[in-house]
Amino acid sequence: MKNFSYLQPKDLREASSMLSNGMNASAMSGGTDLLDLMKSEISTPEAVVNLKSIRDPKLHSIEDHGGSINIGSLVPLSEIADNRLLKEQCTVLQQAAAEVASPQLRNMGTLGGNLCQRPRCWYYRDDEFDCLRKGGDSCFAVDGRNRYHCVTGGGPCFIVHPSDLAVALLALDANVLIQKGKKNRSIPIAEFYVLPKDDTENETILKPGEVVSGVEILAATADTRSAYTKFKVRQSWDFAVVSVAVTLEMSGGTVNRGRIALGGVAPVPWLEKQASNSLTGFHANEATLKSLAESMFPNANPMSENAYKVPLARNLVKRTVRELMG
Ligand SMILES: Cc1cc2nc3c(=O)[nH]c(=O)nc-3n(C[C@H](O)[C@H](O)[C@H](O)COP(=O)(O)OP(=O)(O)OC[C@H]3O[C@@H](n4cnc5c(N)ncnc54)[C@H](O)[C@@H]3O)c2cc1C
Ligand code: SF4
Repeated sequence: MKNFSYLQPKDLREASSMLSNGMNASAMSGGTDLLDLMKSEISTPEAVVNLKSIRDPKLHSIEDHGGSINIGSLVPLSEIADNRLLKEQCTVLQQAAAEVASPQLRNMGTLGGNLCQRPRCWYYRDDEFDCLRKGGDSCFAVDGRNRYHCVTGGGPCFIVHPSDLAVALLALDANVLIQKGKKNRSIPIAEFYVLPKDDTENETILKPGEVVSGVEILAATADTRSAYTKFKVRQSWDFAVVSVAVTLEMSGGTVNRGRIALGGVAPVPWLEKQASNSLTGFHANEATLKSLAESMFPNANPMSENAYKVPLARNLVKRTVRELMG
């Protein structure tokens, strides 16, 4: 690991200025991803800004504001997985948090770090491969091993987005709260991540000095149901091969509005727009579930080893919607 300065800001304003003072500095929350990247010298910051040194209670708490729930960026994943309010009102998020990695990683890892973690592409994580995302000039997955890469939204880089929470938050249509110095902004999570065609080296719209301070989830209607289904290779702990987050706003047994978000299929958490729209007025039976699944992936373009993800995602959506409406 290369030497670096270790900085401990007392508030987010100070953190922003440390992150934008011309040094190559990285924010650190739980450090479970950043330190890994630093040990393998894929990330070599001159300074690490430890956000956990900030005591602001808003960053460390889950607050019910009546019309919305705010979750601070430093809240550990284990707390999101165990929170009763979230279990009742945002089941999909609580289930997604419970599915992340192992108990140790959920205790150390935070909401902000989970949303901003770097990709898991094996070529990206291997210092032998100087690929596009590390400033090189080619993508090794194109002619290489690509069974865990994306099937839609890719090119010229073909990563999949790794965060379980981001997929659940997309199904909840949550907002990401961002701070730089004294300025705050809030943007829909659907606009927080960028496709490789727009930026091959960064996964989010964050600019130097900006940090995620939390997320805001608007209150659901009384009869909203939601669920997260994750398919992984190792059942003990693993990243999603494909994951599905569904929310259904019901009224008297009928769906008023629904959202289907997918993980493991695209470089960003992926909203299935057409399938989500067709949930309005949806009645579940085998024929309607089949046509819902078939409306997914209008522009899928699988790579040489990963076409299996398309039927896998379709079946997980069918299963999740069927269970929610059953
Ligand atoms: C073995 C293993 C298995 C895993 N399995 C899963 C899984 O199944 N599902 C899943 O979702 N994740 C999984 N992960 C990833 C894990 O969840 C992340 O490492 C963790 O959530 C990151 O949180 P952190 O607080 O430790 O982030 P850090 O390591 O501190 O930071 C991660 C990145 O985010 C940036 N960052 C941190 N906080 C902020 C902020 N507030 N604003 C802006 N940028 C910020 C950092 O600069 C860094 O680039 C796994 C990790 C490991 C090692
Ligand atoms: S998919 Fe992206 S991160 Fe992986 S090798 Fe290709 S360019 Fe690099």
